[in-house]
Amino acid sequence: MAKVRVATTWLECCSGCHMSILDLDEKLVDLLSKIEFDASPITDIKEFGEVDVGIVEGSVGNEEQLEVLKKIREKAKILIALGDCACFGGIPAMRNFFNKDEVLKRVYIETESTVNPSKVIPSLDVPKIFPSVKSIDQFVKVDVYIPGCPPDPRAIEYAIKELLEGKIPVLPPELLSYE
Ligand code: SF4
Repeated sequence: MAKVRVATTWLECCSGCHMSILDLDEKLVDLLSKIEFDASPITDIKEFGEVDVGIVEGSVGNEEQLEVLKKIREKAKILIALGDCACFGGIPAMRNFFNKDEVLKRVYIETESTVNPSKVIPSLDVPKIFPSVKSIDQFVKVDVYIPGCPPDPRAIEYAIKELLEGKIPVLPPELLSYE
């Protein structure tokens, strides 16, 4: 039987949700008899192929992230929002309390670790940021939500197993908190 093809990506995020995928440990090895990864930070394959499942970590805060989101949505039959950032905006959405110019100034000029003697905010070769950060379902259709910051690896395993059985997973309450 052909393996289920899975692509993953990260947008505005901290990579913690992908760490939760890797935290499946030996269960991930078991799952690899039934699934295979296409484009993903895990495989370092950059271009999405046609896949059965797309998993998105992170919210959308700039043009490049929106482009990546649209690409994975186009290629995936089922799209999973993985983690609070993808599901709700999460930590990156804290910048929504400030206007875009304040955010750029803070990031490119003011932070304690910034070295930018010219005090110029770059406009070339960097994606344009949006006025606010949004959850992915404000741009594309999402089929499955796995919230959590990060999501519990058991929730990820549950969702993948349900999908392998042809079901759209609905997480039971005990998998909605991290243990
Ligand atoms: S949901 Fe939490 S762990 Fe996942 S990317 Fe966002 S901040 Fe990181």
